[in-house]
Amino acid sequence: MDKRTVNFGAGPSKLPQAVLLEAQKELLDYNGLGISVMEMSHRSSDFMKILNRAQSLLRKLLDIPENYKVMFMQGGGSGQFSAVPLNLIGLKEDRCADYLVTGTWSAKAAKEAEKYGKVNIVHPKQDSYTKIPDLSSWTLNPSASYVYYCCNETVHGVEFNFIPETKGVVLVSDMSSNILSRPVDVSKFGLIFAGAQKNMGCAGVTVVIVREDLLGKALKECPVVLDYEVQAENNSLYNTPPCFSIYILGLVLEWVQNIGGAAAIEKLNKEKSSMIYDIINGSSGFYVCPVDTKCRSRMNVPFHIGKKDGDDALEKLFLDGASKRGMISLKGHRSVGGIRASLYNAVTIEDTRMLADFMMEFLKEHQ
Ligand code: PLP
Repeated sequence: MDKRTVNFGAGPSKLPQAVLLEAQKELLDYNGLGISVMEMSHRSSDFMKILNRAQSLLRKLLDIPENYKVMFMQGGGSGQFSAVPLNLIGLKEDRCADYLVTGTWSAKAAKEAEKYGKVNIVHPKQDSYTKIPDLSSWTLNPSASYVYYCCNETVHGVEFNFIPETKGVVLVSDMSSNILSRPVDVSKFGLIFAGAQKNMGCAGVTVVIVREDLLGKALKECPVVLDYEVQAENNSLYNTPPCFSIYILGLVLEWVQNIGGAAAIEKLNKEKSSMIYDIINGSSGFYVCPVDTKCRSRMNVPFHIGKKDGDDALEKLFLDGASKRGMISLKGHRSVGGIRASLYNAVTIEDTRMLADFMMEFLKEHQ
């Protein structure tokens, strides 16, 4: 293929080309075994090496402390919306959990948790998801079993650039769309989870990083495959894991390591997102990003064209023009409309520049 399509999709999303080439090379014959990873027993020593390598790479890249388990689970991010309360809401007798709701994904997680206990939304209800409610408006419950938030709201483009202070209450975060986009102090969290299909690989595997003292507290109704203690005791092999997705995850982690780890990636991500936000900010209102500047996501940049809520005809023209130039999946989520550029780790500076150039060209032509 001479010219690859540039994929700005929100997930599943672009993978590093080096990873795809490596996977292609090994597709039919992994490591001289004469079979594909897809055909390999999950109990074989070869697969064990793949799984353990992915685990240890992730430990190294995120500097995960010894007293945390790293697990590879199924059911996606949404599966974890149920697994979190099923495993953790019983940590304290009240069966109560605090949720920060800053977008679609934390809203869904809070709704799911209501099935298993009492949910306290920490701040006043928001009319739209364009900011993180002011800290002075939060009422955290000291007897909550945990505090939950979504570190990057993929649909709305709202990202936390700080770790909430919970005064000793266990902190849980959904990092599905920004894991490994920057370094993170894992020791501040009781649990972090992330679906792989944005920054870490392909769909099928969800990474769960959990502090060991939180294991063994699941409600009796918790399905065994979602029970963190069972998965941890079995090194994610209680049942057949998503073997191929774990293999791809390992290749992506190797790629992250080769380009210098989370700190090096953060530098690139700052550069990429500034390129796009600078154009939005300098466009005299032609491009409009509704998100408060303090919490604009580096991963997902949502914007409208022409006016605050977007001019449908102009936005269509923009998407068509982008597509003609080989840039796809820029359409905003159906619930918010407009445009969304997802700039995950695998999206390069060159890819981003291509989009930036097109945005400038479009601005000159239609302003
Ligand atoms: N959490 C976040 C932040 C997401 O962006 C998504 C999906 O895009 C999910 C959770 C749900 O993930 P899944 O589709 O794997 O269930």
